[in-house]
Amino acid sequence: MDGLMMHRPLLQGGLLDYAADSFPAAGIVSRRVEGDLHRQDYARTRQRVAQLSLALEELGVGPGDRIATLAWNGHRHFEIYYAVPNIGAICHTINPRLSPEQLIFITHHAGDRMIFADLTFLPLLEKLKDHLPQMQVVLMTDAAHMPRNSLDALCYEDLLAGRPTTRDWPEFPETTASGLCYTSGTTGKPKGVLYSHRSNVLHALSIAASIGADLGNQPRILPVVPLFHVNAWGLPFYAPMVGASLVMPGPHLDGASLWDLCETEGVQSAWGVPTIWQGLHAEIARRGAKPAALRHIVVGGSAMPRSLTEAFEKLDIDVNHAWGMSETSPLGSQGSLTSDQRDRPFPQRMALKATQGRRVLGVEMKIVGPDGQRLPHDGKASGLLHVRGNTVASGYFRDDEASAEAIDAEGWFGTGDIASIDANGWVTLRDRAKDLIKSGGEWISSIDVENLAVAHPKVAQCAVIAMPHPKWGERPLMVVKPADPQDLPGMDEIRALLAPHLAEWQFPDDIVFVDEMPMTATGKISKLTLRERYHDHVAP
Ligand code: ADP
Repeated sequence: MDGLMMHRPLLQGGLLDYAADSFPAAGIVSRRVEGDLHRQDYARTRQRVAQLSLALEELGVGPGDRIATLAWNGHRHFEIYYAVPNIGAICHTINPRLSPEQLIFITHHAGDRMIFADLTFLPLLEKLKDHLPQMQVVLMTDAAHMPRNSLDALCYEDLLAGRPTTRDWPEFPETTASGLCYTSGTTGKPKGVLYSHRSNVLHALSIAASIGADLGNQPRILPVVPLFHVNAWGLPFYAPMVGASLVMPGPHLDGASLWDLCETEGVQSAWGVPTIWQGLHAEIARRGAKPAALRHIVVGGSAMPRSLTEAFEKLDIDVNHAWGMSETSPLGSQGSLTSDQRDRPFPQRMALKATQGRRVLGVEMKIVGPDGQRLPHDGKASGLLHVRGNTVASGYFRDDEASAEAIDAEGWFGTGDIASIDANGWVTLRDRAKDLIKSGGEWISSIDVENLAVAHPKVAQCAVIAMPHPKWGERPLMVVKPADPQDLPGMDEIRALLAPHLAEWQFPDDIVFVDEMPMTATGKISKLTLRERYHDHVAP
């Protein structure tokens, strides 16, 4: 028997509506490409979203159309996040750090009919114009800053100007697609994850029910995570839901720029990948002070080294170490401590924070062995992590082969990560399956070795990769970007750091030094590039 309750579709537009009605003074601060610092509350944002959606309709955009963005974090990008899905179209965020080949592939594969771009990316679009699909270009600026261009581009502010600021919104099923984001293709050709209104609303609720518990009333949040990748970890939907204000950093993500923005805007919580926090921590050390209001960071995307977590915690900045991927919207697990865990001594709390936390509401997890058999959640067994839930991809956009590969016989999504889960549900990510080093039939976790090594003051960044070995199959090679190229850490120093924690056969056979680490489009060290580069490396 069904319950006798109304069924209203869970639509993203309802989140901004709620914010505009309930928290009209909260909103978005943006460091814009034009150089200024722009402020706009949610009430005004809702008006501009209505204007933009009317302009889109006039340009012929309708349900199911893919509308691309190539833009930094700012209020206009946020407006597109609502205006496009509110009329049943799909907001396709593109990562500008992808290679030209990937950009061309993705725009064709998605069938984008329009692209909104920040001024920064005009030269890129002009260079690629003969290879991209036929798309109407809109430059996200005003008439005063509109550059000459060869693309017949429209001007964003001109599109909005003079239009009604309120409207009736169409209604459609909550399962309607709302967003599209391609994985960066570090493991093959990019694959499109197609979010729905329902999945994004439920994802925002799952943030509220987990990380949100530590954020207090109407926090001021800095999304360093880009709107162009995985919905900026859900912040554009979560923030209006709880009346949080977003401080959008624009293109400048170095430690000094972030420090200044946090300080002047009273940022309390900041979200981003570990390399961002390395930069901010160096800046805090240089200035001898943290930004006054900052008390919370969320970190994910790759493993947060324990030494860096400890450094922030000693500054009274609560570190929440989360795990996820494009296919999980992205939040899968997060490390908000329970009240009894908060009372534990510092080393015990830090041991918990070194893990990837516990699953969020609505995401189930299992770990499986090579034959797909379930492994116990005892903190010891490691296996492939599979997940299931309303915010998990059931397949990829227009890619049946990749979809079939990703989903197991029980209908769960295979993440490609190796993890263990303890009896209390805390997840430790051992490695990506393809990054594990298989030495003489035993596995070495590259993450374990890296996290220990980056604690060395002479090590700025570190990656451990497999190099082929005639006897052992593979052996670990450590690639280090030194903090000071004139003062390289020796193998003995690294070994001394690893010795208390690892067996000797897990130590790297050799270290090589680089001036710069190759990075992926999502700000992670590109192990694929390193493996190619050092494929023929022979240890001494
Ligand atoms: P890609 O970088 O391939 O586009 P995503 O950005 O979706 O894909 O990254 C997802 C992957 O990042 C996960 O499968 C996992 O390997 C890694 N990852 C995410 N968060 C963490 C974390 N906290 N610790 C370790 N690895 C992580």
